Amino acid sequence: ATPTAVMVATGIGANHGVLVKGGDALERAQNVNYVVFDKTGTLTQGKAVVTTAKVFSGMDLGDFLTLVASAEASSEHPLAKAVLDYAFHFHFFGKLPSSKDGIEQRKEEVLSQWLLEAEDFSAIPGKGVRCLINGKHILVGNRSLIIENGVVIPPEAESFLVDLELNAKTGILVAYDKDFVGLMGITDPLKREAAVVVEGLKKLGVHPVMLTGDNWRTAQAVAKEVGIEDVRAEVMPAGKADVVRSLQKDGSIVAMVGDGINDSPALAAADVGMAIGGGTDIAIEAADYVLVRNNLEDVITAIDLSRKTFSRIR
Ligand code: ADP
Ligand code: MG
Repeated sequence: ATPTAVMVATGIGANHGVLVKGGDALERAQNVNYVVFDKTGTLTQGKAVVTTAKVFSGMDLGDFLTLVASAEASSEHPLAKAVLDYAFHFHFFGKLPSSKDGIEQRKEEVLSQWLLEAEDFSAIPGKGVRCLINGKHILVGNRSLIIENGVVIPPEAESFLVDLELNAKTGILVAYDKDFVGLMGITDPLKREAAVVVEGLKKLGVHPVMLTGDNWRTAQAVAKEVGIEDVRAEVMPAGKADVVRSLQKDGSIVAMVGDGINDSPALAAADVGMAIGGGTDIAIEAADYVLVRNNLEDVITAIDLSRKTFSRIR
């Protein structure tokens, strides 16, 4: 392709919200063999919602929600936001003046008056959070966080959890003072175009992969819904770039699509890194493409544009 053709293609991309950083990146996209999608916030909308909360000890459900929300209050994770939102609505909807009075707007203020104080908070990437509440340890996170800390998950809770996972929900487990207390199920709907884009990639001869820190069962259920057969689940944030590198080993050209801080090393490791949506600054920095519309169709637009510009016919 001539420099003019590259300039024209870059302009066409920009008009569609597909920003490409230079001719090399534009050229590489035509040869992509794999597109690796981060699950949360990339294939899914990134709008997590709690659908179930169940206590397996004698604790009152309201107290349970207060406890979990208090532990998650310092977390930046989308799952934490879902937990706080659910606890807020459980406690305050109907009991306080209606949303006309701005309760929804005053959510943070209302929450802060009512949450318990959490000490020694720490986030465990890819697993959950821990802190002290009323002088006792609380753990909120996935199965491995709970098990690693020597807490026994009762069989009825485990089977309830498996059921959630088989239905594409992410389970959040809670242990307080070394005892298992209860769990929550969280859903994060797929983006509406996700399945069509996966299908479209297959038609282009590109192999789609789903990459996530979430558990295997949930990941498989989501992958099935969206039409992806190749799933890499329970990958710690630091391992995401390794997955990209392992796909590159046989000389394959790998594109990675992601939105978050967790994804940046993988975006950088990929032959074609695509930051989707607003993206974090660090993701945008690491990527070759920025897909500003937060629409997965632009992954196909980017590959198409590259193939047409470098007139590669398959
Ligand atoms: P993803 O790859 O989907 O972005 P993460 O690596 O951020 O996922 O997290 C992996 C898993 O760890 C989550 O699915 C969840 O089970 C657990 N987890 C992480 N952070 C939290 C949190 N703040 N509260 C509860 N669970 C969490
Ligand atoms: Mg993520």
